[in-house]
Amino acid sequence: MSRSSNIRPNISRLWSSLMRSAEIGATPRGGLRRLALTEEDGEVRREFIRWCEEAGCVVRVDGIGNIFAFRAGQDPDAKAVLVGSHLDTQIKGGRFDGILGVLAGLELVRTLNDHGVTTRRPIAVVNWTNEEGARFEPPMIGSAVFTGRASLDFAHGRADKDGITLGQALDAIGFRGTDRLSPEAFDSLFELHIEQGPHLDEAKRQVGVVTGAFSVRGMVVEVVGETGHVGPTPMPKRRNAIVGAARVTLAVDDIGWSRHETGGKSTTMRLRVEPNLLGILPDRVEMTCDFRHPDDAVATEMLASLKAQIPDIEQRSGCKVSIREQWSYGGMQYDPGCVGLVREVAQALGYSTMDLLTEAGHDAMHAADHLPTAMIFTPCEGGLSHNEAENVTPDDIEPGVNVLLQSVLRRAEVV
Ligand SMILES: [Zn+2]
Repeated sequence: MSRSSNIRPNISRLWSSLMRSAEIGATPRGGLRRLALTEEDGEVRREFIRWCEEAGCVVRVDGIGNIFAFRAGQDPDAKAVLVGSHLDTQIKGGRFDGILGVLAGLELVRTLNDHGVTTRRPIAVVNWTNEEGARFEPPMIGSAVFTGRASLDFAHGRADKDGITLGQALDAIGFRGTDRLSPEAFDSLFELHIEQGPHLDEAKRQVGVVTGAFSVRGMVVEVVGETGHVGPTPMPKRRNAIVGAARVTLAVDDIGWSRHETGGKSTTMRLRVEPNLLGILPDRVEMTCDFRHPDDAVATEMLASLKAQIPDIEQRSGCKVSIREQWSYGGMQYDPGCVGLVREVAQALGYSTMDLLTEAGHDAMHAADHLPTAMIFTPCEGGLSHNEAENVTPDDIEPGVNVLLQSVLRRAEVV
């Protein structure tokens, strides 16, 4: 055992930082509403930067507002090990989703300072912009720009529901940075996150070793009917777009149920109805749906199954149904070296572990196309997330934070 393998993070200091973050955008029901690039997000970003600078880090901000705090390594030419997640939340979000991963990275730096540890590689803590997608779509846009998956112009032009663009929102809080950072500057990425599902909590395991990600197929479906008076229009003549959307919703739901024993999930998460008024049959519904499965081939099959049912849905509803936009992500395996390191460190520390796939989207999934990447999950109470009641205790997170620290130390090479 080397001296550094006995170093432990200060969980009560991390907890204090988490609770300070939980004051910024706090909701009456104990959660957080801290949408990307709002005043609240600006405030937590400034607090995070202040903490990082106090810990001796050099902070850089790129054109999409991603914040990178660098702790220097001994070798000025070595690529940095990246750790972090996101500080933005859902509209009715929790206090730990994403935030734990960023502030655990900060705690890692503080701990290394306490113990006077030098690493060969620099270590950088990142806060990705707009991970949640609750204000600007698509989600995970900060990491998408970082990896070149989305262009900066595209990202800056995304508008929220009030027509404010992401670029304007960056300017409003002073976070349109000028630093250029890309995956080539980094050695690897480790993202610590609450599980957001029930597997670890139910099995009473302390650390989730995330080996890869579910495959996701998302889509916008457009259902077009015809307006008419809700009274006199005879039933056979109605082309009610809500009826078409309801049939699509049930088909999507059935597709998830028919594969749920192998891990399949399906969701219709949003309907936009026009004109959405009393007395008139709606003529258009735009709906957002997604399918998820651990097996990429099955995710493809789920989408194909919906497409095959469209003619029948059209015939029964009298509406025109089309898939207007389609996207896919996930389905990758994380880097075997980094994943193996996380598992080995967790077991050496004596923790109970479980290998699992992430079923939610994370910035690490974009990074994994470019960098050796791993994720570590901590249990969360009842698997509840994207909910104000989302909860963990210091005891729940301590094992995962220890594993993050020791994995990063091994990768960054203590000198
Ligand atoms: Zn998250």
